[in-house]
Amino acid sequence: MKAVVLEEVGAEPVYREIDKPIVSEEDDVLIKIERTGVCYRDLLTVDGFFPRVKLPIILGHEIAGRVIEVGDKVSKVGVGDRIVSLTYIPCGECDYCRSGRENLCINRKWFGEDLHGSYAEYVLTKEKAVVKIPENVGWNEAAISACVTGMLIHGFEDMAKISSGEVVLVTGAGGGVGIHAIQVAKAYNTKVIAVTTSEEKIKYIEKARPDEIIVSKDDFSKEIKKRFGGVDLVLESVGEPTFRTSLKSLKWGGRIVVVGNVNVKPVNLNLGIIILRENMIIGNLSSTIKSLEKALTLYQKGLVKAIGSVYPLKQATYAHKLLRDRKSIGRIMLKP
Ligand SMILES: [Zn+2]
Ligand SMILES: [Zn+2]
Repeated sequence: MKAVVLEEVGAEPVYREIDKPIVSEEDDVLIKIERTGVCYRDLLTVDGFFPRVKLPIILGHEIAGRVIEVGDKVSKVGVGDRIVSLTYIPCGECDYCRSGRENLCINRKWFGEDLHGSYAEYVLTKEKAVVKIPENVGWNEAAISACVTGMLIHGFEDMAKISSGEVVLVTGAGGGVGIHAIQVAKAYNTKVIAVTTSEEKIKYIEKARPDEIIVSKDDFSKEIKKRFGGVDLVLESVGEPTFRTSLKSLKWGGRIVVVGNVNVKPVNLNLGIIILRENMIIGNLSSTIKSLEKALTLYQKGLVKAIGSVYPLKQATYAHKLLRDRKSIGRIMLKP
């Protein structure tokens, strides 16, 4: 099969022929990929940020496709079913898995890092990591279920306990996570303020229907405080460049959910602000089966639509360049 393989850290991944995976265990599910999302995490893998990655490896962890073969004991899905997979395979047995926090599974195996990923014609996953796609949900939406929509549902709902009527700020609003975070937050009946550094991205961000769009290259907290008196919740999809300003934009008691880490630099924190204002900083890693299922429900209701572009799989390197240069709008997806 054709796949995009990382052979050397720091070098461009290579589009080439590689052995097709085979079903060998009773809970295996072999998928023919229809769409796979391009994530900043893939760039970090190329850059060597995850040292445990065993090379060569097929990149990609945002998986949507059709089942073509299953192991003997698989009953949840069958050949021909359209499915999405978690971005990792959980063990199903550790304390985290048993308590429904399988995203923190201590034995999990991540696609594109520990396991061959989805920048390929086929990928091998497990029954416990997959969910069927409802009929009226398209491939583009399906592809962003685990790493974008499901992750955001997990962050907003499970972690930050979002409630209707709250004011939510989304940074990096034109990016793959940001543009969908606007829609997911709106699904909880909140007021959403979208922040972007790019005037050109406004017309795309408008498609996600935020209540306000602010274009700012530096400290947007003054404008936020002046116009809205601060926000209840921030979805921080950028990381170090906007984190401190996001924190300053919070109301007393406000929460900040951190999902983006574009330049992996540490941040200086003024602990006094966090103590005196009882602000909460919340990490958010990927999705659980439960939040993945909820993502599919949001699409069915028409509350979240995929915004982005689709390229052929062999253009993965070009797609990476677009993402690195911040030229992309929404999620870039690849189609084998
Ligand atoms: Zn991802
Ligand atoms: Zn586990």
